Amino acid sequence: MEESAILSETQSYPYPDVKGRYGAYGGKYVPETLMPALQELEEAYTAAKTDPGFQQRLDALRRDYVGRPTPLFLAERFTEHLGGARVYFKREDLAHTGAHKINNALGQVLLARKMGKERIIAETGAGQHGVATATAAALLGLCCEVYMGEEDMERQQLNVFRMELLGARVTPVKTGTRTLKDAINEALRDWVTNVGNTHYVLGTVHGPHPYPLICRDFQRIIGEETRRQLYEKEQRLPNLLLACVGGGSNSIGLFFDFLGDAGVRMVGVEAGGLGVDSGKHAARFSGGVLGSLHGALSYVLQDVHGQITGTHSVSAGLDYPSVGPEHAHLRESGRIEYTSADDQEALDAFQLVARLEGIIPALESAHALAHACKAVPDMGKDEIVVINMSGRGDKDVQQAIKYISPGEQSP
Ligand SMILES: *Cc1c(COP(=O)(O)O)cnc(C)c1O
Repeated sequence: MEESAILSETQSYPYPDVKGRYGAYGGKYVPETLMPALQELEEAYTAAKTDPGFQQRLDALRRDYVGRPTPLFLAERFTEHLGGARVYFKREDLAHTGAHKINNALGQVLLARKMGKERIIAETGAGQHGVATATAAALLGLCCEVYMGEEDMERQQLNVFRMELLGARVTPVKTGTRTLKDAINEALRDWVTNVGNTHYVLGTVHGPHPYPLICRDFQRIIGEETRRQLYEKEQRLPNLLLACVGGGSNSIGLFFDFLGDAGVRMVGVEAGGLGVDSGKHAARFSGGVLGSLHGALSYVLQDVHGQITGTHSVSAGLDYPSVGPEHAHLRESGRIEYTSADDQEALDAFQLVARLEGIIPALESAHALAHACKAVPDMGKDEIVVINMSGRGDKDVQQAIKYISPGEQSP
């Protein structure tokens, strides 16, 4: 076992640069009025990184509140079923609130407290990031307001109630398509107005610099733990890492610490919806073009007039018209490969893993599992795959009922 398998070699990775860019992507495409707020946030974050008090508090809450480290689980029956490489699940589904989103929400709310902010705002689509943020705000005693599209509030009433139980105010957004992208616009607008006492907790590795950096750093713990845990179990590095890609936070969280290890392949899986040719999907790297949305330059699903096109996925968490700028860069450099799994493939993997492992995965995570079903059988039995189980599927059971009749399914 070489030392390099224990210690990450990603240290010399130079992104983002001083302008907040990842190669050609990223940056700060925001109104002039937001520039001072982004500057203040970047300075506070840079200071927090080397503040032992901040890091100790974060470590303690990760351990005692979130439940970290989350386990690395050898999925034996899934492995046997696929007949190729050994498959491990990184169990972010066991983190408090049931997904990786708490890693970022907790880190950012702690940072807001350190900055002396009294108020937290967030956007949410399906409600998962809103719930994670409302949770962290309750824990740390900050006032919380969550913007949510009216259409999404209608579809996700349980999460609206959850946020309210946690003491947050959920504000309906009635503009545009009344979904996530409109909620982000509204949150940005609020932030411009109330920046003095308010921190905006952005939910993924998107938005203007320094958000993609901050969110990546708070999610990196996933890959750091995986590296250590796999070393304990197998004394080696994995051959392949798989994760689903919505905005891109759980995937970069798993991948980041392995970027410097040339022998580790990484594949990000986008939502293929009803098929990439149908136009009803969220596969930004297949159907998207270069554009700026929500403050960053990246791949965007838009029409020839620059209008954002409607997206579709069976999983709400992957249903977003753009993707984090760092992913655009890592794709271009060839370091990470991207593919998609469609709704049906994800639903099949959702059922398969429930039956074989007794784990109901989030429909988002099921996209990564679906790709494993295609890729793992062709791999050698001595190879190792780690899949990020980004969340648990309890939240998706209502959605799955529409597609699946239990008892009839055949894994
Ligand atoms: C929100 C969510 C995702 C997608 O977001 P990323 O930023 O791409 O990680 C994936 N899985 C789960 C369980 C989610 O809640």
